[in-house]
Amino acid sequence: MSELDQQQLHREMTAWRRDLHAHPEFGFEEKRTAAFVAEKLRAFGLEVAEGVGGTGVVGTLTRGSGNRAIALRADMDALRIAEQGTQAWRSRTPGTMHACGHDGHTAMLLGAAKLLASEGGFDGTVRFIFQPAEEWGRGALAMLQDGLIERFPFEEIFGLHNMPGLPIGHFETRSGPVMSAEDNFEIVLKGVGGHAARPHAGRETLVAACALVVNLQTIVSRRLSPADIGVVSVTELITDGTRNALPGLARVLGDCRSFRPQVSAAIEAEMRRIAEGTAQAYNVAAEVTYTREFVPLINDAALVDEALAAARTVLADDAVGVAVDPMTASEDFARFLTEVPGCFVFMGNGNSAPLHNPAYDFNDAGLLHGARFHAAVVRRRLGVG
Ligand SMILES: [Zn+2]
Ligand SMILES: [Zn+2]
Repeated sequence: MSELDQQQLHREMTAWRRDLHAHPEFGFEEKRTAAFVAEKLRAFGLEVAEGVGGTGVVGTLTRGSGNRAIALRADMDALRIAEQGTQAWRSRTPGTMHACGHDGHTAMLLGAAKLLASEGGFDGTVRFIFQPAEEWGRGALAMLQDGLIERFPFEEIFGLHNMPGLPIGHFETRSGPVMSAEDNFEIVLKGVGGHAARPHAGRETLVAACALVVNLQTIVSRRLSPADIGVVSVTELITDGTRNALPGLARVLGDCRSFRPQVSAAIEAEMRRIAEGTAQAYNVAAEVTYTREFVPLINDAALVDEALAAARTVLADDAVGVAVDPMTASEDFARFLTEVPGCFVFMGNGNSAPLHNPAYDFNDAGLLHGARFHAAVVRRRLGVG
């Protein structure tokens, strides 16, 4: 075991991060990224399994004789967004970019693997999980269905995400609900289209759709308990009408957020009732499709304390804090937490453009903090002696 030169590690992670940034790959297409990850992990001396849940990679590192195992997770996928940045490492794939910083997450977990392989300082097994398709909310499930926990057992899991607006070197999280579930819906209204000059001769769907959009606003304001958090957003209204023809078909689409399965179920039930009733009032038919895309991310209280304590061993006390509010954004890491307890943490990305923005770029100044945090969690949870 030898102590790594941390500045050298930071330079290396920066080079990996920029290489990954220049070569972004969409969910389940992360072939180059997965090969990059696997090659690095093997070079550090880890055992590596590829093709777990499609393009997922799992690295395993064992030290000592302890029989406990914990997992650290990073995500590898990019988004279908055209990058506006002009930096030398900007995306070379038109229309695809790392706009969520998963290039940084991957580089930091590789850095942690190199650090822990070289320095040890723990007793047990660490699983380094590089998941595909986080943005789809499908990658974690694909790995779990491919036997992730049976083949590479672990008892708890930790992950992190960069956060624009939070200063570099700052970490925060909270126990309980952290990020929301995401549900999607499509309501199709079917009537009879016709001439714009003769509305009475048909059963057009646009006025009904407008009433439906307004009525859906009452789900959160009138039907949910004020103590529950919920969001119902109508995002699209599409008809088959044209300037002088009334539509016989209208589609109302949108997105709902919540933190408890009961709230998600209540939103769906109310939506079906309102769609049905509104359609009836306008003498058209309604068909509701409601799907669940992401489960809510619920942090384990005890492991939040552990993660914050680990962060304080590598960062200043006042840089580690408890986030006040849960966020109504969603994250596929939540799926792992339905199997084992764990903790998801946010780390500062400084004053960067927001996530999923074409001008976004991961801030390399945070790389070493992330890698050292991962390593600190391992040493705390799999302590020697
Ligand atoms: Zn994202
Ligand atoms: Zn992300």
